Amino acid sequence: MTGKRGGDAEICSFCGKSRHQVKTLISGPPGINVCNECIDICNTILYEEGRKQTIAKETALTLDADSLRTPAEIKAHLDNYVIGQDRAKRILAVAVYNHYKRLLHQENEAAADAVEMEKSNVLLIGPTGCGKTLLARTLAKFLDVPFAIADATTLTEAGYVGEDVENVLLKLLQAADFNLERAQQGIVFIDEIDKVGRSAGNVSITRDVSGEGVQQALLKILEGTVANIPPQGGRKHPEQNYISMDTSQILFVCGGTFVGLSDIIAKRVGRERIGFAKDATSRMSDSDKERLLHQVETDDIIEFGIIPEMLGRLPVTAVLDPLGEADLVRVMTEPRNAIVRQYQRAFEMENATLSFTDEALRELARQALARDTGVRALRSLVESLLLDAMYDLPDGRDDGHRKFVVGVENVRGEKPVTAVKIRNQASGAASETKRATPRAPSKPKKGKKNTA
Ligand code: ADP
Repeated sequence: MTGKRGGDAEICSFCGKSRHQVKTLISGPPGINVCNECIDICNTILYEEGRKQTIAKETALTLDADSLRTPAEIKAHLDNYVIGQDRAKRILAVAVYNHYKRLLHQENEAAADAVEMEKSNVLLIGPTGCGKTLLARTLAKFLDVPFAIADATTLTEAGYVGEDVENVLLKLLQAADFNLERAQQGIVFIDEIDKVGRSAGNVSITRDVSGEGVQQALLKILEGTVANIPPQGGRKHPEQNYISMDTSQILFVCGGTFVGLSDIIAKRVGRERIGFAKDATSRMSDSDKERLLHQVETDDIIEFGIIPEMLGRLPVTAVLDPLGEADLVRVMTEPRNAIVRQYQRAFEMENATLSFTDEALRELARQALARDTGVRALRSLVESLLLDAMYDLPDGRDDGHRKFVVGVENVRGEKPVTAVKIRNQASGAASETKRATPRAPSKPKKGKKNTA
């Protein structure tokens, strides 16, 4: 290539402009020149290429062998946040490991000789508030994949009032900031799957009463299909542009309480075991029923009302146990983001320490268990217990360090939560002055309202 065109004038070897037409012309080997404009264009191309590579790396997710987490690593992480449910954690850890290994395997192997590995969507069976959603959410966070929660009872098959199943995928896409590739490797948790059972006695007049239609609609996305998602959500309509999303790499975790399933299992076990009384389930204790749930078989779930095709797409089943008093105490104190730890941190920020006696924690657990919402009640219980103390907390920040010890009498509402003020910390001998915050109901002081 020559830098000269039409005589001796030096020109850019790329665009052909002469030295007079550009700001700078840089000369290379004899006869080869490049102008500042072409350099700018090259820079832009290089920058774009670099950016694409960075994005590709960021979206590659877990799909390289080095970053594939082993089941033990996955379970260890779940242990940090979820109390108990050991068996369910193990099952989930293996299922997730296999799921992402399967994706890796699909990427690496030529399609012709690839061994078809089944998708390992998971069905979680357990009472409300035992950690089903928490498990799925914690997992997604650990794997750094987008996560979406959907409620099966809000879904309908096409043509009915309610949400299309594709909206579940839209939620995932939103969670992935509309990065389609990331969304396609995410985790979706579908709650209340038992409520769309055939025999669940669904009474809504606005949606498919049998629930079977929803199961049919879910089948395809669970198995793996290219779904058309309306980007604005809502119902589909013909003029809309759709986003095509491949669901074959999405891991679906379905959860449900399956009330009555243990009776179905008991009946089956009764039929199998001679001498098992017909009405045995009615005499069973809760813990017996709980144990029985662990013996669940595919046929029991089908009898419950989940259609066989759907169950076929949920090959992994894990049963979670209800949380008891001791578990609830652990829930309050042990996980990284445990509620007691959160409040302790909030108190520390106000130059105060907060602690609970063991009996106080047990009483809180008992009170939470007495409510229908179980573990979910814990936060509101602790919140109202500490409300008054927190109300006064910032005002006393400069008075010295304060110590709050919550005892069982505080939890029972017999006494307000009080502070012990530690004065003169610098002098070493910390003298302690008891101070009620707010004041105890038995000794109301003048001018101050008892807010307990
Ligand atoms: P569900 O089984 O109904 O999906 P969730 O997972 O939504 O229950 O639990 C509700 C809340 O209760 C969680 O956000 C968490 O704070 C707490 N929780 C429930 N189970 C556990 C558990 N096993 N370990 C720790 N916290 C739990």
